[in-house]
Amino acid sequence: MGVITHGDVQPVDPAKWARSPFELDRTSEPGKLLGRGTEDDKGPIATALYAMKSIQDKKVLLRKRVELYVYMAEESDWEPLKEFLKTHTPPDINITIDAEYPVVTAEKGYGSIKLSLPADAALPSATAPVLRSLTGGFFGSQIPEDARATIEHATAALEAQIRARAQQQQGMRYTFERQGETLTVKALGVSAHSSKPEDGLNAISMLADALNVQPWTGTQAADMLSFLNQLVGTGLYGEKFGQIAYRDAFMGPMTVAPTVLKQNNGELELNINLRRPQGKTAYALRQQVLDAFNGWKAQRHVAAELQVQIGEPWLQTSAPQIPTLLTVFSHYTGITDPQPVAIGGGTNSRLFPNAVSFGPAMPHTVYTGHSEHEFITEKQLLLNLQMYTAALIELAK
Ligand SMILES: [Zn+2]
Repeated sequence: MGVITHGDVQPVDPAKWARSPFELDRTSEPGKLLGRGTEDDKGPIATALYAMKSIQDKKVLLRKRVELYVYMAEESDWEPLKEFLKTHTPPDINITIDAEYPVVTAEKGYGSIKLSLPADAALPSATAPVLRSLTGGFFGSQIPEDARATIEHATAALEAQIRARAQQQQGMRYTFERQGETLTVKALGVSAHSSKPEDGLNAISMLADALNVQPWTGTQAADMLSFLNQLVGTGLYGEKFGQIAYRDAFMGPMTVAPTVLKQNNGELELNINLRRPQGKTAYALRQQVLDAFNGWKAQRHVAAELQVQIGEPWLQTSAPQIPTLLTVFSHYTGITDPQPVAIGGGTNSRLFPNAVSFGPAMPHTVYTGHSEHEFITEKQLLLNLQMYTAALIELAK
């Protein structure tokens, strides 16, 4: 049997951490092990190694061989692993420890929408307020914590309107800096894994909403703001994006999260991360995205370009180890009658036969992987060690 993990991690902004994110911090927040990878996915590697060691130390007899896989490009490029599996015989049954409990049997499909707006030609010369820049976010699979806008010729009245609108947003924090007539607005939200936008507060969409106090025109930032407010909004599920929103009874709703908004060679680029359930073809969804975009583009008269990539959702229907894993989970947590769940993320389970995810995160908790506040509690780490040890013994004995 195989245990699938990964040893690579997502980037961090060290300024947001009490100590180095690449050294285990056990003291800043007692009871928590803080550090990049503690939950996703280095903590699970350590736990799996200890589970294997304890089985060996106790001389528990197993009939099956247990193999631990530590893949090093899960967060970026799955091709090397696909290549490897062409010549390597994988285990018959597999547990991925890179998601949540009780047992994950479905994963949404990954998608992305990339909007590019051309460089500003001539800037408006009037003395009316001009949205000069709008940027935010860090990497594609993180709900952005930071976003900022610069406004020229910003009047005191305009600033007051933006402040008032921003104040209505729960949990968001803003700073306003003024240099003469130039106003910089910085938005601070809460970072999270982009497959669980509910766990975060998206600084890009919230800042766009805060600035929506007057019509903005004449710059690429103004066009971007229009796109964000008209098609994305502050909802999490593509509610305003034409007809694209949908949900599946088991896999849940499609999530639509702007994650990175940045300048690239004069163009302003917005990356939107989609996580989609079963229930629509990639072709139909792509068409709906384009329809909404074209409608906006025609109305706005802007030379915008859109690229759309739509991945497939994944559903495990056969894995024979599911009942055993559910029993182990129920035994150690006291949670009765646990059922398989679906997640928004994508794991390497897809590449292995008879694979499902089993932990490391408890259901209905905030997942901290990919955020700027990643940790695992000591309590959870030890509970995981008990459950992985038991699961390995039960499945390999
Ligand atoms: Zn992971």
